[in-house]
Amino acid sequence: MNYISTRGGDESLSLAELLTRGTAGNGGLFVPEQWPTVDASGMERLKSGEYAEIASRILALFGADSLAAGLVDDATRTAMDRFAKPVGPPLTQLGDSLWSLELIHGPTLAFKDFALAPLAEIIDQNLAQQNRHATVLCATSGDTGAATVSAFANRERLKAVVLFPAGGVSEFQRRQMTTTNAANVLPISVEGDFDDCQRLVKALYQTPAAQSYGYTAVNSINIVRILLQSAYYFRSSGQLSTGPDDRINYVVPTGNFGNVYAAYIARQLGAPINRLIVSSNENDVLPRLFDSGSMHSSRTVKTVSPSMDIQVSSNFERLLWHIKNGDGNAVSQSQHNLENSSSYTLSESEMATLHANFSAIRCSEEEAFAAMQHVYDQHQKIICPHTATAIHAARQMHKQLNGKTVVVETAHPAKFSAAVERAIGIKPSLPPVASAIMTAEEQFETSVASEQVVQQVIDKYFKG
Ligand SMILES: *Cc1c(COP(=O)(O)O)cnc(C)c1O
Repeated sequence: MNYISTRGGDESLSLAELLTRGTAGNGGLFVPEQWPTVDASGMERLKSGEYAEIASRILALFGADSLAAGLVDDATRTAMDRFAKPVGPPLTQLGDSLWSLELIHGPTLAFKDFALAPLAEIIDQNLAQQNRHATVLCATSGDTGAATVSAFANRERLKAVVLFPAGGVSEFQRRQMTTTNAANVLPISVEGDFDDCQRLVKALYQTPAAQSYGYTAVNSINIVRILLQSAYYFRSSGQLSTGPDDRINYVVPTGNFGNVYAAYIARQLGAPINRLIVSSNENDVLPRLFDSGSMHSSRTVKTVSPSMDIQVSSNFERLLWHIKNGDGNAVSQSQHNLENSSSYTLSESEMATLHANFSAIRCSEEEAFAAMQHVYDQHQKIICPHTATAIHAARQMHKQLNGKTVVVETAHPAKFSAAVERAIGIKPSLPPVASAIMTAEEQFETSVASEQVVQQVIDKYFKG
């Protein structure tokens, strides 16, 4: 199993090579060259067991044999042992046909831990075997950075540089990134928005320093991370489905389209998954695409769900590649249009393919607050503002959806306590693992949104 670029060309890499690579040479994203086939007994094994086991079985299908034997098994198990609830993630019933998948119990209280914790362990073990070093570059709207810092702090073979938008993350999220006191971690507050941070990361790969630092990506364009996330879709759909005809709908709070793409992978491999519903906040670039057939990114607006404040959903390029039947030139043309004139348009048949699998719903701040209040009134459960967009979408779509629906809970409400308090008048309490963060001393650098300046900041920090 090798990986190729969404924008064509003949670059082809193994899973092992991808661990320390960002985008493809031609700017595209790496995708598996074909879907592995999974027979009935293989599917049973993907749907049952612990998260670590399932994640390891998925990577086995996607080229883990390019790494040392046993490495992925060991790394996933070691990583998941650090979770407060290693068994899981738990499914909580919220109604007759509605469940929530609680991805909020990892070390940094967001779903991103499920991928980054095992990925960091895999990369570190692999570098040790090869006697190499690398530097992880990460653009974050909050939760990726926190999960990256937690997963990579104090590792011997790795440095981590995290770019976050100044003022674009919650105080708690910023503190999660800035209070580790780990010398190998450099958080940088960038004067710009998340899309600027993402653009800077892409640009830094092209600088002369990229080689000597061994820059690598762990944001959600990293396909290994997305493959790991598929594990909770296999597991939870397996738990809820009573047979091949009982297929589960998922509503996924979406920003960069990584998490919902992980669900799509599970579905394409044969997990009992029906419709995938993307929920967005006021940054509704995907709902607008679903309505109009045109991908048009505008200015990012700040919302109460900052991890979804994104106008360029990078991973959508992977779905575009599937929709265009693997035509790299066509994807390249569309992405070129997006980069140069902020838009591209899909044909009617391409839109039909999209609508056959996915829906997209926009949620305003008012609607998110109402959804938080509703879940609290009905179930005495406090949810975060990102999860609220999914609850809103599930309620909007209720009549059109057949069968069971799972809302993906992406972050712990205490990470966004100001918004939660505004919505329901109650301040969610911080789990004990997290309270020390609020008083610890912060350490971070600042930069304007220029790759030269960011590179200077990196040089200064690591070379003195
Ligand atoms: C990252 C994040 C999202 C968006 O996930 P994508 O994979 O980027 O679509 C949604 N909610 C929370 C809480 C997040 O941290």
